[in-house]
Amino acid sequence: MNKDNSKNTSVRSNNQASTMNNVAASQPDVLIVGAGLFGLTMAERLVHNSGKKVLLIDKRNHLGGNCYSEFDAETGIECHKYGAHLFHTSDERVWQYVNRFTKFTNYVHKVYTTHNDEVFPLPINLSTINQFFHAAYTPDEAKVKIAEQAASAPAEPQNLAEQGISLIGQPLFDAFIKNYTTKQWQTPAEELSPDIIKRLPVRYNYDNRYFNNKYEGLPVDGYAAWFDNIVKSCQSSLEIRLETDYFTDPAIQKLRAAKILTIFTGPIDQFYQYQFGELKWRSLDLQKEVLDVSDFQGCPVMNYADLEPKYTRIHEFKHFHPERQNSQPSNNLDDSNNYKDARSDDYNENDNTNHHNSAETSSNLMSSRQPWLRDGRNYYAENSGKSVIVREYSKTWHRGEEPYYPVNTADDREKLAQYQALGRAEANVIFGGRLGEYAYYDMDKTIASALACYDSLKTKLN
Ligand code: FAD
Ligand code: UDP
Repeated sequence: MNKDNSKNTSVRSNNQASTMNNVAASQPDVLIVGAGLFGLTMAERLVHNSGKKVLLIDKRNHLGGNCYSEFDAETGIECHKYGAHLFHTSDERVWQYVNRFTKFTNYVHKVYTTHNDEVFPLPINLSTINQFFHAAYTPDEAKVKIAEQAASAPAEPQNLAEQGISLIGQPLFDAFIKNYTTKQWQTPAEELSPDIIKRLPVRYNYDNRYFNNKYEGLPVDGYAAWFDNIVKSCQSSLEIRLETDYFTDPAIQKLRAAKILTIFTGPIDQFYQYQFGELKWRSLDLQKEVLDVSDFQGCPVMNYADLEPKYTRIHEFKHFHPERQNSQPSNNLDDSNNYKDARSDDYNENDNTNHHNSAETSSNLMSSRQPWLRDGRNYYAENSGKSVIVREYSKTWHRGEEPYYPVNTADDREKLAQYQALGRAEANVIFGGRLGEYAYYDMDKTIASALACYDSLKTKLN
């Protein structure tokens, strides 16, 4: 872990806390557990739209939950600590909302996969199909071919295997999905939800954009700067306490006893002491390596479709930000169109109020938010002979490890229904986010869920 950056985050948050003793001295109106995107969005809405004093805690030492990234000290390359995170959405409300806190690059995500020592483009598109079958099918010919190969799948697929075969036919499923999914989920595709595979588009043209969404990109100054901007916008109405566990911190126990309104974004089964049993998660082992090569694999993400190697994919972070190679110290924060006033409910594109404290000088902001530009030098470009990769291994989750992906078998869904019934009966606790709802949410869905949660809460609060 890059100690410098975690220290900066922590220091910023401690500064935040020290200017917010008002909140700490008097009891906050709302306690939010978890400073991931769900918690941050709820905090921002509750402060700006309902005028609440919010205490936001996280057991980790940084904001942003699993979306957090930090800049590698040796190379200046931004590394996504909990696996690569690419922002993409077609939800206008979410897009307007996130653009209040950060500008996005024009990055378009492309992924390749290696099968039998050959590289194919993903998602499955006409190029993949023609390369795989050594053919030159037109779109209509390919549709006919895949339909023949998908004939064995039922009309209403009940699991990932049936869904996969119905989408791309048996041979492509066996090559690109079956073994990758086994490696990734350690659960047979027959026991997994069909929804998992519906995320991947199948295209009968040569478009190999990974996502189908209207908008995509990466936060220009990195994820941490995005989250800091949310916190800064809340000023003294928001107190952040990091390295604070909801279940063990003595001060938080007092707030629990006082039955303070709580938004809980940790695991719902843990909240209820696993009384109906554990919900199943998949965890990850992310092995980082700094290499003395300028370009290791030529693309941001290479999947490995076969059972060997054991890792599912390799991320090479420098490919997420090619624009930084030629970046000059400039201050995009002075661009008043970038950071809109989040207080209003309708996110008017013409509203160009800037969130940033005008007292902060642009150079201070620039150096803290663009850590690849250090001492007037482009550290990222100077280290262009190096690269950072992460090999991603999937593993079964055990208590105490990071829960990443809900496995969501029928047994899990039964347990979840029992926990949710308890949750609905709570007078002062709301469960949200991917851990609280046990949901496979992308970032935009997490934010949309938080905005909807706030919408249903606000009438009760105001
Ligand atoms: P989290 O980010 O998990 O935040 C929850 C927070 O609660 C954590 O910080 C945790 O420390 C804290 N917490 C838990 N228990 C306690 C406790 N007892 N006390 C205090 N704090 C506690 N989405 C995309 O849109 N694009 C992507 O490319 C993408 N890639 C992903 C890759 C991986 C490997 C994973 C796992 C997810 C990916 N996602 C992606 C999804 C994205 O990470 C989620 O949508 C988002 O992080 C959910 O935010 P959240 O606030 O619900 O949860
Ligand atoms: N998948 C696959 N082969 C691939 C890519 C994806 O079998 O090369 C399947 C796999 O089951 C995975 C699902 O499609 O869990 C969704 O893929 P995505 O890339 O969206 O997964 P994530 O990035 O969320 O891990």
